[in-house]
Amino acid sequence: MRQALVMGNWKLNATKASVNALVKGLVTAAQENANVEVAVCPPVVFIPQVEALTADNTISYGAQDCDVNTAGAFTGENSAVMLKEFGCKYTLVGHSERRVIHGESSEVVAEKFAVAQENGLVPVLCIGETLEQFEAGETKAVVEAQLQAVVTKSGIASLNNAVIAYEPVWAIGTGKTATPEIAQDIHAHIRSWLAEQDAAVANKVQILYGGSVKGANAAELFGQADIDGGLVGGASLDAVEFSKVIAGASA
Ligand code: PEP
Repeated sequence: MRQALVMGNWKLNATKASVNALVKGLVTAAQENANVEVAVCPPVVFIPQVEALTADNTISYGAQDCDVNTAGAFTGENSAVMLKEFGCKYTLVGHSERRVIHGESSEVVAEKFAVAQENGLVPVLCIGETLEQFEAGETKAVVEAQLQAVVTKSGIASLNNAVIAYEPVWAIGTGKTATPEIAQDIHAHIRSWLAEQDAAVANKVQILYGGSVKGANAAELFGQADIDGGLVGGASLDAVEFSKVIAGASA
């Protein structure tokens, strides 16, 4: 049985005051839904603050990205080694905003996945198709290619120690959510694609859904057989709403 995981991606949103309020506001939901792992991914500058705020509760945290390098002349970057030193459990890799806005290829994402794992972080590999690809019926081929880049670089067994987040790009921040049936179909496809290579890995890996998840749709999405929780953007910025999402994963 895979544990449910609900992860908030705060993107480029936070202040010292909002971080305090948000993390403190999630403690009760994390306690009341102890079968769900609750995690947050703040902007990196707030990670020490989140480290302090989570010292005596079960909330996990991670970064939204890490560099392919671990040290050196790479202005503006943060390394997996640094994130680990500040207690991060996770780092997202390949979020669609990194792929689209920052031009990260699946090969670069696979490098980030590998360097995160080599340095003790659990990579959360974000995959998903654009609206154009969805409308052209290319979803399954797109996610397979995104997964293949990681399998080619790190091997199928690397997914024993990773999380996959399926996020249709057309559903991120748009208010359009994939129906539970569409999401389940793709999650099941991802799992069977993995199972063709290693059934144990396929059975073990948590596959999160992301794309306009909120309190009102969480339980139905997370109730699908192959959806093990969510990666949540907008709704994770409000403790009351995010708590409802967490409760939706608890059933
Ligand atoms: C995300 O950024 O990963 C995301 C799913 O955002 P939202 O929930 O706002 O669609």
